[in-house]
Amino acid sequence: MDDAVLVTRTSVPEFAAFSVMLQEIFASGWLTNDGKWVRQLESALSDYLGCPQLIVCNNGTTALMLALHCAGLRGKKVAVTAYTYVATLSAILWMGCTPVFVDVDPQTLRMSPDSLARAFANHPDIAGVLPVHIYGLACDDQALSALCREHHAALIYDAAHAFGSTYQGRSLLDFGDYSICSFHATKLFHTVEGGCVVAHSEQAREKLTLARAFGHRGDTHYTLGINAKMSELHAAMGLCLLPRIATEIAQRRALHAVYDEALAGVPLLRPRSAAGLDWNYAYYPVLLPDGAALKRVFASLAAENIHPRRYFYPALTTLPYVQQWQRPCPVAEDVARRMLCLPLYGGLPAQTARHIAAVLGAQVLG
Ligand SMILES: *Cc1c(COP(=O)(O)O)cnc(C)c1O
Repeated sequence: MDDAVLVTRTSVPEFAAFSVMLQEIFASGWLTNDGKWVRQLESALSDYLGCPQLIVCNNGTTALMLALHCAGLRGKKVAVTAYTYVATLSAILWMGCTPVFVDVDPQTLRMSPDSLARAFANHPDIAGVLPVHIYGLACDDQALSALCREHHAALIYDAAHAFGSTYQGRSLLDFGDYSICSFHATKLFHTVEGGCVVAHSEQAREKLTLARAFGHRGDTHYTLGINAKMSELHAAMGLCLLPRIATEIAQRRALHAVYDEALAGVPLLRPRSAAGLDWNYAYYPVLLPDGAALKRVFASLAAENIHPRRYFYPALTTLPYVQQWQRPCPVAEDVARRMLCLPLYGGLPAQTARHIAAVLGAQVLG
C-alpha cells in the first residue's frame, strides 16, 4: 500500500520540532489534567479563530456530548441533519436524546431550513438543533438561527469540517450557541485525536471546563462530568501543526483549481457554496449521476490503488439502530448513494489530481 493514494494524508510536523516539546513535557512529568500545553493550545486556537470562549477536549464526539450537556439537551428531542458522519448522530444517542431527522437542501447539502420548519411543526418539543457545516461549507445560519429563536431551541453546529473557513468575516466556529470541531488525524487541522467546543460566555466556558474533567475541582463536585480531557502530548502536536495551516489551505485551494479545470467538461454536481464564505477547501466532493457511475469510478480508481471515500454513506436514516425514529429524508438518501470525495491533501501532486479527474471523466462520460 506504499504508493496508495487515499482520500487524505495526515499532516505530520517536523519530528525535531515535536521532540523538543516532548522533551520538555517528559522533563516536567505533567502529561495531562489542564496543563501548560493544553492551555497554550487553547490560547493559540482562541486567537487564530477569534473565539475566546473555547475549550479543547479529547475528540469531536465528546465535544458534541459536552455541548449537548451544557445546552441542557440530555434526554430531549434534537433535530439533526440526515447527511453527515455517523458521529453527529451517535453523540445525540449517547446523550439519551431522541433524534428528529431533517433533510438537506439538494443544492447545498446542508440542513434545509424548510425541512427544519416542518420538523418543528410536527415536533414542537424539539429542544435543540444540530446542523453540520458539511465539507467546511457554511449552513444558512440566518434562517436556522431564526427558526431556533422562534421555537426556543438551542443551536449547536457540528463544525468538524469547518476549521479555517470564515463566514461573513468570522470563523465558522463562532456561530450558534455552541460549535464543535474535530481535531482527528484525518481532518484539516489535527491533534492526532482531539476536538474543541466554542461557547459564547465565561459561564458556559466554565461549565464546559468542569464537565470535561468529571465535574469537580478538588473535593467539591459541581455537576455531572465525563473524562474528555486532552493530553499535553496531543496539545503539543496541535501547537506544532497550527502554524502550517495557512499553507495547507493554500495547497488544497490550488488542487481544487486543478480538479475544477480537469473536470470542467464532466457533468458532476458540486455542493453550492454560500455568499460570504471564505472556504477552507478541506474536501473535494463530487456528486455522480447515479450509483452505477459511482461504482464504476470507484472500481477503476481502486484498480490503480487510488481510494476516494464515500463521505458520507449510508444516509443516517437507513441505519439499523434508528429505525424507531425513521423519517424519510429523500435528498440525503439519494445524495449518500452518489457522493464521492476525491483525494485531497497538501502534498498531493497536481498530476495525480489530473489523472484522477481523467479516470473519473472517462467513467462518467462512458
Ligand atoms: C470527524 C467528525 C466527527 C467526529 O469527530 P471525532 O474527533 O472523530 O470524534 C463528528 N462530526 C463530523 C461531521 C465529522 O466529520
